[in-house]
Amino acid sequence: MLLIEQIDELWERQLRNWQLVRDNYAALDGLLTREVIIPITDSLEDSHIILQYNPKRLRSSSASIDDASLKARPCFLCNENQPKEQETVVWDNRYKIQVNPYPIFSRHLTISALEHKPQRIAGRIGDMMRLAKELKDYVVFYNGPYSGASAPDHAHFQAGLYEELPICHELFSATTSLIDANKKGIFGTVTCLGRPVFYIESLDIEHGEQWFNDLIDALPVKKGQEEPMINILCWHDSGSWCIAVFPRRKHRPACYGTGEDQFVLSPASLDMGGLWAVAREEDFNNLTLHDVRLILMDVCLAPEDFEDITEKLHLIYSKR
Ligand SMILES: [Zn+2]
Repeated sequence: MLLIEQIDELWERQLRNWQLVRDNYAALDGLLTREVIIPITDSLEDSHIILQYNPKRLRSSSASIDDASLKARPCFLCNENQPKEQETVVWDNRYKIQVNPYPIFSRHLTISALEHKPQRIAGRIGDMMRLAKELKDYVVFYNGPYSGASAPDHAHFQAGLYEELPICHELFSATTSLIDANKKGIFGTVTCLGRPVFYIESLDIEHGEQWFNDLIDALPVKKGQEEPMINILCWHDSGSWCIAVFPRRKHRPACYGTGEDQFVLSPASLDMGGLWAVAREEDFNNLTLHDVRLILMDVCLAPEDFEDITEKLHLIYSKR
């Protein structure tokens, strides 16, 4: 049976047999949302940020991810700590795919490694690409261990319907400054959406992986960390793989907190993609375009550093 058929059956079973899932997905329909529009100059369409008031996400946006907190809590991705109702579809003998009981998307999956191993992207981008193709209509996403992952000690992706993630529809038309291109696809940058992003569109896995690995090698790694700070979105559309990589400089913005002019927001892949699950009502009501821009600028790689990386990549490709 195709993976997507197994997943469709998983949805049916979990919605039927697991009250929490049934309730939380039913509640999703009624959640308040509003849009913040990032205007873009020239003839391009605006970039959209959807704010979703989602109180159930507070646990995730305020999770402590320091070593001591992680060691003190049972890992919620390991089998022995999961609810008895939670079912699994095993993929490639290495990952288990499960329904996320605290959704942001109307279909939201968690895809975690069968083994309890740290969150690392090394050797896994090909997995993301294969999953993105097999999970038709889903965008697969990765939050780096210092960039929004709430389980940095257990390797995992998530997936949701890409129709519901604004940037999946904006990157195609946004100005792309090319780093490399061939008949297998393009590798470029998009800087006009309020958060700089490296964008790969590839007709095969080999080229996508190569471009991605070159990019990862060019990105800075902070002292004491094992990989560059990144968020990744990967989806498959009309025969191409699309990979968006957002380099980060910070996990949480300076305005993180519960005081005046502060927000309980820990931006991750979906925020980069234009879907912000906002757990506190006052944050949902108060966030302005100005705040959104400041938060994005604060947590994303600085424009001058982004330019440096782009230059570095241009140099590498000009010599090939
Ligand atoms: Zn675990």
